[in-house]
Amino acid sequence: MTAERRRPVVAANWKMNFLKADAAEYCRTLRRHLAAMGTPARTVVFPSFPLLPMVARELVATEVAVGGQDLHPEDRGAFTGDVSGRQLSDAGCSWALCGHSERRRDHHESDDLVGRKVAAAERCGLTALLCVGESREQRRAGRALQVLERQLRAGLAARPESFAVAYEPVWAIGTGETATPAAAQEAHEHLRRVLAELMGEEIAAVAPILYGGSVTPETAAGLIAEPDVDGFLVGGASLDPQKFLAIIRHSG
Ligand code: PEP
Repeated sequence: MTAERRRPVVAANWKMNFLKADAAEYCRTLRRHLAAMGTPARTVVFPSFPLLPMVARELVATEVAVGGQDLHPEDRGAFTGDVSGRQLSDAGCSWALCGHSERRRDHHESDDLVGRKVAAAERCGLTALLCVGESREQRRAGRALQVLERQLRAGLAARPESFAVAYEPVWAIGTGETATPAAAQEAHEHLRRVLAELMGEEIAAVAPILYGGSVTPETAAGLIAEPDVDGFLVGGASLDPQKFLAIIRHSG
C-alpha cells in the first residue's frame, strides 16, 4: 500500500488549556467548518480530562474523534489522580495519547511505562497515538534515529492492532522551530522501516505516522508533501480553531 492511500490524521493537543465555554465554542466552530469542507482528514481532539464528556457530546455525529491526553496502565484501582482507559472510553474517547514528551519529562515516564499505557489503550478499545522524539542533545550527538527506534520498540511491545505514531522532536515542541520536511521524512521513513520489522510490511504500510512540533498552517503543506508524513499532532496552533482548520485543509 502506498502513502497516497493513507488517509491523513490531524490531531489537536489542547494540553492544559480551555474552560468548558471555550471548548464548546471551539467544537461548534469545528463542526460548522468541517461540514462545509467535507472531511479531508481524520480529525482528533485531545482535551484535558474534565472537558472530555462535554467535548464528546458537542462532537457527537461528526467525524471528529475525541481522545485522552494520558491514561494509567491499569484499568482500575487505587491510583489517586489517574484516569484509566476504561474511563476514557466511558467518557466518549476513542483515542489516547501515550508517551507525550511533556509526560516523559514532567512525570518521568519510562519507555516501559509508555508501552504499558499503549497496551492498556488497546485493551480498552482506544487507538493509541504513541509519541516518540529525540532531544536536541540526542540529535546533535547523531543519536536521533537510535532514540526513535528504542522508543518505538518499547512503545509497541504489546503489538497493538489499533495505533498511530507521532514523531515529535522534543526540540521542536512549543519552540516555534519546525523540523524541515527532509528531516521529518528521514525520521518517518526510519520509523516505518522499524515498524515493518516489528509488525510486518502490511501493517507498516498503512500505519499513520504523524509529525508534531510547532506545526502551523504555513509549514503544514511542505511537511505533508513528504511520502511518509501522514498528518500532524498540533499543540500551540491547535488552540486557534481557524489555524487548526487551515492545517486540516492543507493536509487533505
Ligand atoms: C505537542 O505538544 O504535541 C505539539 C506538537 O506542540 P506544538 O505544536 O506547540 O509544538
